[in-house]
Amino acid sequence: MTEEVRKGAELLKNYDGKKIRIMEVCGTHTHEIFRLGIRKLLSPKIELISGPGCPVCVTPAGFIDCAVELALKHGVTICTFGDLVRVPGSETSLQKARGLGAKVKVVYSPQDAEKYAEEHPEEEVAFLSVGFETTTPSSCIAVRDAEAAGINNFSLVTANKTMPGAYQAMADYTDIYLYPGHVHAITGLKDCEDMLKKGMSGVIAGFTASELISALAIAVKKYQSGEPFLINAYPRVVKESGSEKAMELINHYMRPCDAEWRGIGVIENSGLELRDEFAKYDALKKYGVEKTSGHSNPGCRCGEVLQGKCQPEQCPLFGKVCTPEHPIGACMVSNEGTCSAHYLYG
Ligand code: SF4
Repeated sequence: MTEEVRKGAELLKNYDGKKIRIMEVCGTHTHEIFRLGIRKLLSPKIELISGPGCPVCVTPAGFIDCAVELALKHGVTICTFGDLVRVPGSETSLQKARGLGAKVKVVYSPQDAEKYAEEHPEEEVAFLSVGFETTTPSSCIAVRDAEAAGINNFSLVTANKTMPGAYQAMADYTDIYLYPGHVHAITGLKDCEDMLKKGMSGVIAGFTASELISALAIAVKKYQSGEPFLINAYPRVVKESGSEKAMELINHYMRPCDAEWRGIGVIENSGLELRDEFAKYDALKKYGVEKTSGHSNPGCRCGEVLQGKCQPEQCPLFGKVCTPEHPIGACMVSNEGTCSAHYLYG
């Protein structure tokens, strides 16, 4: 630990000013802050709120319903990241649908799904494309490669999301954002600068213990000035203009759309969907499946947890009926989910 980080840790421990709410928007930050024991360092005057930046947690029940329908009604092989398999839809999950004959394959990237489609021309294959600006480019690359190779049995079910809408929607619940470094490595500083113009403070943070402690200490120190601020505390990775190549790729294949965030509702222009030119790679259009909102377990308080309105422990199902082995809500499924992090480390 450098002298600077040690001083930062001291500041976080001894802070005794006005109560500060800091929202770590990103699920990876939530997980790492818990795992590294950083919460235990903090003065009680610093409240950390876990925001809606875990892609699995904000994927609505209706999206899972569509994937189940594609698999069971249309015989489509669903390729997905492992966490999504256990996320509950309105009536069932993909894991349970497997027992009814659904073909669900866990992959590590959209490219794996596209390769699977190429190797299995007798199957129709759809990849569940979720995530933020960090992961969306790889879904675009899969479409680009499928098009170049003439693979017609591959498509995406998109629930990709973008951060600016969430920043706007969550602004009332926090004093400072701990912005996700990997998202801004792609998008650059503009979205954070726009929030600054609206009076919202933030620090862009990396993911190691030193980076997180430094970013939190900067946030607490700057907050004392009473003026809104934006600090890029992850300059080795986040540059002013982000990754222009990745953004070009996203903008070429995708366009903004309104998106439903599980437990929060529809946020205007906070999602991405394939442009009309690429409609043949849009699984819902290809198979005529209607998007629905679906419904979650009425006892689940994921929406409030994601907005920092309640802590997971305040949900009556937490740790009793809802555990990582038997998740009732999406926040308990992924390692990055707030309920799961509280259960594992809290
Ligand atoms: S503990 Fe389970 S049921 Fe309660 S809010 Fe979290 S995920 Fe939902």
